[in-house]
Parts: sequence; structure tokens; C-alpha cells
Amino acid sequence: MSKSLQINICKLCQCERPLIEAHLFPKWCVRHLRSFESDNPKIFLHTLNESKKRPDGLYDNGILCENCDNKLLGPIDNAGRYFCLSEKLEKLSDKSLLNSAVPKKTFGLFVLSVIWRFSISQLPECKTFSIGAYEQRTRDYLWSYFTNQPVADDYDFLVTKIESTLLPNNVLNGWVKTPECRRLIPGGVNVVTLFFPNGYQVIMKFDQRNFPPSISEFNSHGVYCCVWMQANFESSPVFKDLSGRVNQVKRNI
Ligand SMILES: [Zn+2]
Repeated sequence: MSKSLQINICKLCQCERPLIEAHLFPKWCVRHLRSFESDNPKIFLHTLNESKKRPDGLYDNGILCENCDNKLLGPIDNAGRYFCLSEKLEKLSDKSLLNSAVPKKTFGLFVLSVIWRFSISQLPECKTFSIGAYEQRTRDYLWSYFTNQPVADDYDFLVTKIESTLLPNNVLNGWVKTPECRRLIPGGVNVVTLFFPNGYQVIMKFDQRNFPPSISEFNSHGVYCCVWMQANFESSPVFKDLSGRVNQVKRNI
């Protein structure tokens, strides 16, 4: 705690203030990962070719002041925790659940803020990730929300949850993945994907085009979030990619 804080422009309030060591994934994510056994993949995977183990999480001392990190982003980080660690899941169909822990809009703000933090960060893990022109727009969107100004509600996202009888619980629940830009197939809509604890994957749209109708129809379920169950995850290309990176990290330790 004796480290001197650098004074610089906070990227959220845009005031000159001492900047603190701000977590990119919130602290509760790190605590959750630590609650698993030591040989599980409590690893923050990133989009560089080489993955690193980050047992204390990812934090950046050049982006946010204490007020913005704790007082403004803190409550929506907590909303993300309530959502991801909630057991309030109601089965809607064989392939879908309703998560009524927090409203969809609040969870969306949380996800957006995490993606924005990764985009503005200069950490090596974040250098290949950027939402480009959406960075300023997202900052303005978050600031409007925090200062009680009207906000355009035009970010859309889809939530999926991994379902598997083959994977051990610590693999299913005990890892997170940093944001990555992708193009949705079909349609080519630009999205950012990231994983939170408990197997939640969020696919957030950063594109003026709409999601394909199949996603839009699934998503239109009122105030709360519909969660699409992702069966047979272990045979998906995403899992093969992730397990390859985890094995690479284990070899390097
Ligand atoms: Zn600030």
C-alpha cells in the first residue's frame, strides 16, 4: 500500500486524479477462481500466442481513479457476481434457462464495462484487443449511466452457459477468458466474446447491424436474461482451443 500512485487522466471521469490498480476482471472473479483446488485452470487466458498464469488477476494502474473504480464500477461489478454465481435459474426449455438474479440491462452494463476496461488497458495481454471506435462510445455510454443521463439502449448480447456431463466441475466453473473479437457466422456481425465463472459465455455485439433473427427471437424475453445452454462443449472448437492453451501453460510452469 506504500506504492506512490501516479496522477493522470482517469479514462472514465476524464479528470486528473491519482490512479489506482484497477482490476480488469473484478475481484470477485479472482476470489471465485481461487476457491478451487490448486491444479485447476485458474488461469486468465488471453489472445496472444503465449498464455500466462495470472494467480492474482489482471490489473492496470493507468486507467481509473479510485472513485470510478470502486464507487461507480463497484456496484455493477457486484451485479455481475450476483448473475454469474446465482442459483436462481429457471428452466425455460431443454436448451434454455432464465437467470433472474439481476436485470439483463444491468448485467449488460457489467459486461460492457469489463470489455471496455480490457480495450483501454495497455497490459501486454490486452494489446491485441481493441473495440476501436466503440471505445469512446462505450465510455460515454457508461458515463451517461453513472451520471443519470438518458442512455441509448443499443448494445445487444447473447448469454450461453456450458453444459457437460463429461467435464469436471473445476473445469466447467473455475476459469475465465479475456475478451476476443470475432465475427458471427452466419452474417458476419462483429462481436466480442468472453467467459465468466460458472461457464457463462457472453457474445456482445459491436456492430450497427442487428443479430440474426434466430438470436433476436431467443433474446426477447423481457427484463431478465435468457441463457442458452451449450451442450457438448468439450467437442466444440472453442474448447479445443482453450484446452490447447491450458496445456501450453502447464508445460511452461
Ligand atoms: Zn475517475
